[in-house]
Amino acid sequence: MSQTHSHDGWPQPYRLPDAEPYWQALERQQLKYQRCSHCQLAVWPAHSYCPHCDSPALAWQVSTGRGTVYSFSTVMRGPTPVWQAIAPYTVGFVQMEEGHFLFAQIEGRAEAIRIDSPVHARFVRRGAQTLPVFTIEH
Ligand SMILES: [Zn+2]
Repeated sequence: MSQTHSHDGWPQPYRLPDAEPYWQALERQQLKYQRCSHCQLAVWPAHSYCPHCDSPALAWQVSTGRGTVYSFSTVMRGPTPVWQAIAPYTVGFVQMEEGHFLFAQIEGRAEAIRIDSPVHARFVRRGAQTLPVFTIEH
């Protein structure tokens, strides 16, 4: 499946074959990522070969779901009705404890979100897909 489609109005993500274990783990409310067994670095997005050292020895691991805000942007006007219904909302890159980056929605009042804010993942149903959303820790 390489085409974006919508379900209940929510845009559905691309599910590339390399990342299929990630999508399946989300259904069990787990956040997975790859780690290279050769150079030990976290690898994300999912690959067939390590982008750091070219090793094919990539293993799936479960993330703690914790990280910090690396960058963010608050959207005041949603592009489609489902997004407009939750606007304003914030999206951005989260640097995970394991070292990789995820792009996701970041919950919380826009004024409360800062670069380096600690966040943790929770799981939400969006159409046919379970997705991680990050929440600011207090
Ligand atoms: Zn490697």
